[in-house]
Amino acid sequence: MDVVLLGSTGSIGTQTLDVCRMHNIKVKALSANCSVELLETQAREFLPEYIAVSDEKYYHDIKTRLSDLNVKILCGDESVCELAALKCGRVVNAVVGFAGLLPTLSAFRAKNSVALANKETLVAGGELVMKALEENGASLLLIDSEHSAIFQCLLGAGGNKFSKIILTASGGPFFGKHRDELKNVTKAQALNHPNWNMGAKITVDSATMMNKGLELIEAVHYFKADPDQVEIVIHRQSVVHSAVEFEDGAIIAQLGTADMRIPIQLALTYPKRLHCPAKRLSLTEAGKLTFEKPDDDTFCCLKAAKSAIKMGGNAPCIVNCANEAAVSLFLNDKIGFLDIGEAVNAALNDVKFISNPSLDDILDTKNASEDYVFSRFKQGEI
Ligand code: MG
Repeated sequence: MDVVLLGSTGSIGTQTLDVCRMHNIKVKALSANCSVELLETQAREFLPEYIAVSDEKYYHDIKTRLSDLNVKILCGDESVCELAALKCGRVVNAVVGFAGLLPTLSAFRAKNSVALANKETLVAGGELVMKALEENGASLLLIDSEHSAIFQCLLGAGGNKFSKIILTASGGPFFGKHRDELKNVTKAQALNHPNWNMGAKITVDSATMMNKGLELIEAVHYFKADPDQVEIVIHRQSVVHSAVEFEDGAIIAQLGTADMRIPIQLALTYPKRLHCPAKRLSLTEAGKLTFEKPDDDTFCCLKAAKSAIKMGGNAPCIVNCANEAAVSLFLNDKIGFLDIGEAVNAALNDVKFISNPSLDDILDTKNASEDYVFSRFKQGEI
């Protein structure tokens, strides 16, 4: 078993390498888009055959640093797609944002087995991605803890279809707050997640609850659910990672500690379950578990994501890419916290809707949605 790891220096990337280290899984290739120092350390430990950096400004630096190693170093977005098409046991796609879409499609064309942490692939690409998966006979496992949980719950279904998916959400750092309390939220507050330690983009998405909206869209595509069959439930303790309900009313849930190495490892070793050093869950220590309804009016990204998946077409791509643009503005201290949700909802209303988008339409939608948010910002509308 060998692995091509895209996005090796991020939170999922480094935890994937923890799993590879534990189980002696060979790392055939690494790609990253920043943190050259960390990429060098990873390369020296795992000795991959290939490295790709999407940004040219890091290429010469990493080439010089690794000149004593026998490794092929590539550069550019296309090189990440090239790595995804290498013959290997698993392609782990832990790229952040829309940039993960094309490498996933490249891996499918090469009939590779993909462990996907990049939820934007399924959100933006939707039906197109699922079609490419089926047409090429590739395979896809999701690393997201909720989708891994749903997948595990369905392993015991004996071919029975679920009647409902219960997608749990921690609620992020601002659960229970109203809009007027969120006006002056700082970047530091938004980046302070109560349960999970993750990268900046997904942590802000958790604070706005956009992350759960993206996960809802991802679940609809991957599990072939109707949007109304997915119920989002706030579960502050992050012990129940999600659940499914069957026709007879029985609910099966997956529980565990909040440690991403568990779903990452399963996506790498499935159907085998190997030892994992993650802390074990003690039900008696977990104490009280609570479940509540989300507040779609305060966390209006959730509302936009629900509308988008019902509209279909390029609508999920619009909300995804408008969100990426708005989050980057927020992380650069250009706009306020509540502006993110407003920008996403406005983009869904104003960016051109396409009911049956081609890949080119999806790429155009990305640019149109980003341009829309950036030009509203420039005009002082957000
Ligand atoms: Mg998740």
